[in-house]
Amino acid sequence: MKDLFPIPETVSRVTETLEKAGFEAYLIGGCVRDLFLGKTPKDWDVTTNAKPDEITGLFPKTFYENEYGTVGVVNEDEKDPALEIVEVTPYRTESEYSDSRRPDSVSFDATLEDDLKRRDFTMNAIALNLSKNKVVDPFGGRVDLQKGLIRAVGEPKKRFSEDALRMLRAIRLHAELGFTIEEKTKEGIKDSAELLKKIAKERIRDEFIKTLMSENPMEAIAVAQNLGVLEFVVPELLDAIGIEQNQAHAFDVWTHLLKSLQHSADKKWPIHIRLAALFHDISKPETRRWSKEKEEWTFYGHEVVGARKTEAILKNLKFPNELVTTVVKLVRWHMFFSDTEQITLSAVRRLISNVGKENVWDLMNLRVCDRIGTGRPKENPYRLRKYQSMVEEAMRDPVSVGMLAIDGKDIMDIAKIPASPKIGQILHALLEEVLENPELNKKDILSKKAIKLAIFSEEELKERGDSGKEKREEEEEKILKTIRGKYGVQ
Ligand code: ATP
Ligand code: MG
Repeated sequence: MKDLFPIPETVSRVTETLEKAGFEAYLIGGCVRDLFLGKTPKDWDVTTNAKPDEITGLFPKTFYENEYGTVGVVNEDEKDPALEIVEVTPYRTESEYSDSRRPDSVSFDATLEDDLKRRDFTMNAIALNLSKNKVVDPFGGRVDLQKGLIRAVGEPKKRFSEDALRMLRAIRLHAELGFTIEEKTKEGIKDSAELLKKIAKERIRDEFIKTLMSENPMEAIAVAQNLGVLEFVVPELLDAIGIEQNQAHAFDVWTHLLKSLQHSADKKWPIHIRLAALFHDISKPETRRWSKEKEEWTFYGHEVVGARKTEAILKNLKFPNELVTTVVKLVRWHMFFSDTEQITLSAVRRLISNVGKENVWDLMNLRVCDRIGTGRPKENPYRLRKYQSMVEEAMRDPVSVGMLAIDGKDIMDIAKIPASPKIGQILHALLEEVLENPELNKKDILSKKAIKLAIFSEEELKERGDSGKEKREEEEEKILKTIRGKYGVQ
């Protein structure tokens, strides 16, 4: 097996240790699925007939993960984060599921076959033994992998009634792998969607994030809607279906949101941009009014209402506060672009202060998603480039005494002179020198220079400062030109 698949040392060491102690050990789950697909596994899971305390005894550093008996084997010298912890779980069977989310009890008195039977999809129920070159695949997982089918192990409806989260896992795997959900499995989801009401929001959130972070989130959300599952994840999105917009848009609000989301995925942008792309127009349905004068739909204030709604959705799904704050800011300010006013530096500064320095570039990216999502991106992207250029201008440190490694107070202390216009003149004189040679911008160097400059009279200092003024302006001009050139704007 080790010849067929690239198995890291760290992993085979774990299975060998178990086998040397007389236990069985198989790779299982997502890592086996990924190996057969020729992908690099994100994490490695081992299943064994050893019991939790027997596993713990075989490795120098371990920890218990949960009530299912999973032991995390810690590999401290490992640099690859995917290998730092290898999860080892005893074979187990599960009792009845009376609540659609977890078994009433689990038993470790089980065989490998029992353990494979409790797994969700055929492609996740393939076990691989490295030392014996053996594959255990009782449900035809390899055939389904080849056909690109996501098929429940056993009777789909029964399996979804045991743990409703499996329905979201199916959709997530569909998004990640581009596989088709097998017909009966699909029917099972349609019939069981409502059971998702019983699932902890945190579990739903984690699958939702994985779905959004896949390559095909648009398709996955559409499938979730189709199968009746979206109603139990983000019902608010359903209100956007069929909400027609004005001429600038080729699509209804629903399709626009999905296309914006998809663009964020095509760009491989992070989760907060993907969430903002999906939710930025979430309140268009309730703010839509027909304008007689314009003979068009208007959506005044949808970004304000939408920001609040986005906050409620994300909090309900237990997203971490910091992420919620960022996404809400992006949604709240996504209309910055529609101001018909001229783009001025002060307006751009206001925008930066509203959305936050750390978010302003993401807001520009959200705008790109929004624009592509219209399906009619006809407006000249010049305006966006102009914004980007102005943001860079507004964010950079201007050429001023503020960029020096010392300030007025330092000079008063070092040169022992009282507050007077002379301080400002010394700072200006120092700035001239730093502009000539940026290396000089260090506190100790400037301190020594300041002491020397303090000997000069105010008039002499003023002369030095003024002579450099022109140079400073030139310098400013050069920087602005470079920034504007970068964005191709005037
Ligand atoms: P990922 O690539 O995200 O790690 P995965 O399939 O490995 O995908 P895990 O959550 O790591 O997902 O689960 C490991 C294995 O445990 C799965 O492949 C599957 O065999 C089993 N499993 C996980 N969740 C469930 C569930 N809700 N019901 C049944 N089996 C499950
Ligand atoms: Mg996994």
